[in-house]
Amino acid sequence: MNDLKQARNDVLQQIEHACQNAQRDQAEVQLLAVSKTHPSDMLKEMYMAGQRAFGENYLQEALEKIEKLQDLDIEWHFIGHVQRNKTKYLAEKFDWVHGVDRLIIAERLSTQRDVNQEALNICLQVNIDGQDSKDGCQPSKVAELVQQISQLPHLRLRGLMVIPAPNNTAAFDDAKQLFEAVKSKHQHAEDWDTLSMGMSGDMKEAIAAGSTMVRVGTALFGSRDYSK
Ligand SMILES: *Cc1c(COP(=O)(O)O)cnc(C)c1O
Repeated sequence: MNDLKQARNDVLQQIEHACQNAQRDQAEVQLLAVSKTHPSDMLKEMYMAGQRAFGENYLQEALEKIEKLQDLDIEWHFIGHVQRNKTKYLAEKFDWVHGVDRLIIAERLSTQRDVNQEALNICLQVNIDGQDSKDGCQPSKVAELVQQISQLPHLRLRGLMVIPAPNNTAAFDDAKQLFEAVKSKHQHAEDWDTLSMGMSGDMKEAIAAGSTMVRVGTALFGSRDYSK
């Protein structure tokens, strides 16, 4: 099964090309391997190919993989919808949570993070293109939330996460603008370094607009089977 390594090399090459086209340094764009629905054996193989950051969406599934792969130095990112009653597991088991969109969620994560662990990295999820069904705070709420969340002791607020509607690549530019606007006013600007946007189908556009972390599933692992 050398094809996972090959797939990763292909994706890294796509990232490299996108960076060249955008005259950006490739080191500015991190690859997050989105492994939801895929078995831990596949994650391990991707790990052996050099991948360290993995993103999961479903808590129960993720916890099982974290347990199974506990001997590997994987950086675990939760990129799914954050339910208020599940924050404890996120605070304990993950390194990053991308889907924070309300103060109460951030407060719970901060309280529930073990003081002996490093601060939990979080991204504020923004509903950048006003979708009805999507999670994420309104863009107009971002400044206030950043102000409030950055006071919390056991979190490190790293930036923004967006999931625009398919083909709405203009939303990436809006996200970048918002990201920069916060950065220019933010007291903890040294921590504000992450713009999580772009997936298998639109990573090129996301990188052109300024993404620093692309979340890629299908292009790395193939299509997902939700029936299991
Ligand atoms: C599943 C998922 C991805 C990966 O999508 P692909 O199109 O398979 O690359 C990225 N981000 C989030 C939030 C996801 O839920």
